[in-house]
Amino acid sequence: MVNGDVKREETPMNSAQDMKNRNSLKGKIVLVDGENRKTIIDLMKQLLEKKCLDAILVPSQVPDTDSYTWLLVQEGSLLDLCDPLPPVMTVQGGKALSSLTKHGEMEANIGALMRPCEIEAVVELHKLKQIDLDHIILFSIDCPGTVPLSDYMRDPQKMAENFKESIKKWGESESLRPICQICDRFSLFPFAPSSPKSSLSQGGADLPASDIHIGLLGGNDEKIFLWPVTQRGKDLLKKLDLSVHDNLEVWESKVEEVREEKLKKRTAFHDEWSTKIKGVDNFAAIFDECINCHNCMEACPVCYCQQCYFDSQLLTLTPEAYLERAQKRGSLRFPLDTLLFHIGRMSHMALSCVSCGACEDACPMSIPVAQVFTAVGDQVQDYFKYVPGREKEESPPLQIFLEDEFGDVETPGDGLETSHGEAKENV
Ligand code: SF4
Ligand code: SF4
Ligand code: SF4
Repeated sequence: MVNGDVKREETPMNSAQDMKNRNSLKGKIVLVDGENRKTIIDLMKQLLEKKCLDAILVPSQVPDTDSYTWLLVQEGSLLDLCDPLPPVMTVQGGKALSSLTKHGEMEANIGALMRPCEIEAVVELHKLKQIDLDHIILFSIDCPGTVPLSDYMRDPQKMAENFKESIKKWGESESLRPICQICDRFSLFPFAPSSPKSSLSQGGADLPASDIHIGLLGGNDEKIFLWPVTQRGKDLLKKLDLSVHDNLEVWESKVEEVREEKLKKRTAFHDEWSTKIKGVDNFAAIFDECINCHNCMEACPVCYCQQCYFDSQLLTLTPEAYLERAQKRGSLRFPLDTLLFHIGRMSHMALSCVSCGACEDACPMSIPVAQVFTAVGDQVQDYFKYVPGREKEESPPLQIFLEDEFGDVETPGDGLETSHGEAKENV
């Protein structure tokens, strides 16, 4: 092994115990009491009342405003403010949860209810040692998407109405963010491939790696589906007073139907964006109007470094040095190094980009940041056969390496053969 440290496992799977449990797992069906939102809130209240959880982190409306935030709730009655599917993503859930667990150990058991892309970010942050999941139970939920934050801020009532309509059509709405319109990970996919070329097709893991998934599709606002993904999820559901049902086919087939449509859109997206980002000039043109405010980085859940290189003194120059550069080029554009910032950020986190759209929502210049990162991220992730948000124990590819990788980039004649098998002999 070269520089032998850790060896990356191929096609990570869930633990043997979870795999065994899956065969015997039964999903549960809950009849809707009035509306989906209230039914989910009642379930969360039960979990607090029965002391299954000490607190729950949920998206909630800020009282008397049109805004949404995250609430860590210990008192069940305060859950009435909760909205499991707010129309906008003001703060990415992964960011909210990492603030909770980053500093110090936690004894309490906390639940967190989030959209799939937020759970994926949580799982990535766990792998990057930014979230400790030991005492956290993750609840994912079928997600129709969100509307762009800027559109919502301009006209909250209208956009809230548009969002309600999009739930009925399940994601088929131009009011939704572009990234949500092509999101093929809006639900839970047990054993499912995450993209047509993904290694998951060889026998995958659950995506996202939550503990319990709440299915809404196919329920027609009359029932919701609860799918315990892990043993912890199964244990928790046992404590609730729910009817058992071993057939969630309605939900599964509806999810598959929507997913097929989304996959077609994602494929078309890649066709379009592969041209848009081809070559340095095209790539640079996308960021022409960037004012280098770094809002995209601040909003991104997986951009977690406390001191970003691009905000550090390392990139500052003396006035003389700026003048020297201006003299060489004829002029110097400020702010400096905008493109370097985006390429640098991309190289740091493209493998963990969960296509959540938070960066695009945060951009004051309407630059399609999330679409660029998704166009590049999907390619890089596919190259490494890596799916962010999958199996919690899987290490990100840049932290580890395989014995047999990158044979095709070794230089011929340097003593290493280019074929993987032969190269192995030499290292
Ligand atoms: S990207 Fe959009 S549709 Fe996909 S999970 Fe996130 S919010 Fe939902
Ligand atoms: S780069 Fe953008 S889309 Fe990707 S994880 Fe960060 S905020 Fe989400
Ligand atoms: S948020 Fe927009 S303007 Fe600000 S640095 Fe990012 S891309 Fe540039």
